[in-house]
Amino acid sequence: MASGLAYRFERPGKNLLHHHSSMSRARLRELIRLYRTQCPKQQPRCQPPCWQPPSSRPLWPSLPLEIVYMIFLHLDMITLGNLRLVNTLMHRQVDSLYEYRMLRTHAAETLMNLDIARCTHNFPLHQLYREFCHPRCRTGPDFGPLLYIPTLSRVCLQCVLRHSQYRVATLHDVSVCYGLPEDRWDLPVFSCVDLLEGQYSSDRLIDVTQAGLLFRQHWLRRFGSSSREFGSALQEWTYWLRSTVAFPCWDPHARVAEPGVYCYGCTKYWETSRDKIKRRLRKRVKYSYAWDTTSPGSKGVDRAFRVPDLPRHFSTCPHVVRRLRRGEDHTALRFGESVGRIFRVDAGGERGAGRAARVGKK
Ligand SMILES: [Zn+2]
Ligand SMILES: [Zn+2]
Repeated sequence: MASGLAYRFERPGKNLLHHHSSMSRARLRELIRLYRTQCPKQQPRCQPPCWQPPSSRPLWPSLPLEIVYMIFLHLDMITLGNLRLVNTLMHRQVDSLYEYRMLRTHAAETLMNLDIARCTHNFPLHQLYREFCHPRCRTGPDFGPLLYIPTLSRVCLQCVLRHSQYRVATLHDVSVCYGLPEDRWDLPVFSCVDLLEGQYSSDRLIDVTQAGLLFRQHWLRRFGSSSREFGSALQEWTYWLRSTVAFPCWDPHARVAEPGVYCYGCTKYWETSRDKIKRRLRKRVKYSYAWDTTSPGSKGVDRAFRVPDLPRHFSTCPHVVRRLRRGEDHTALRFGESVGRIFRVDAGGERGAGRAARVGKK
């Protein structure tokens, strides 16, 4: 175990994924307001209940709070937000729900990005909260600083770019490929904002793997035999990073929401050498990732950790930095931009005092 310098992204969504970075807050607020007002109309109408409580004795206030919370956990954040407006009792009950409060307090930016993607209404609170408390990527051993929207699962950047199960395609392409109309896909569909126009693009995205499974079920029910393989034809129309949002993880021991900590040495090594590597690759790479190269230590770039896991990385990292040089900036650079303040993590996995990152002292 060893100590070293680390940093966090100040704005994980903006710094790493470049989501909506060029759009004004006012425009984003407007998009969210539109989604929230239109959303209840898009949802299927509920069947009328067969039993109506007598109007003189409303049922809701007599329900035990445990039952109320169980119901709330199966509702989405938008419905809960609307319930808060019904009366003061419901307002108080929703606000007193621990899971709701925690997400509103510690994952506000993620909730905002799910609203912008117009998909919040697909996911119940308990599903969102379960991922909030789950630190690891669902397909690898590393900490996952991102949330893959279509299945609401925690993921790391490396997996989302490499695993075939994190592929999305436009609803239109999927429908054409499988020969099913667009309204037959009972899957979460999400929208993307065209950053230049400030409007939603007409392409709405869905998960390719889920679409394939759904189609296979449909084919089996209809023809009673296994389906043809269509999925590979979709390869060329798939997108990757548009399908994720930054998502901090609740650490119950430190009682903080951890967005992910990064090794400063690995990042610094990559930032100073990526131009040379790019030239050697002789490719016109617009946005290249460090771990696409074979350089030593490149696997640590863009790999998020929790603070207690960093000393293990520092002990084997060929680029670990233990102190800043005189005059060196106290913020880390990623893609040439200042992204977050540098701090020291000691060998025991504790965040060191601020002075430790200062010049000169080991
Ligand atoms: Zn992973
Ligand atoms: Zn490192």
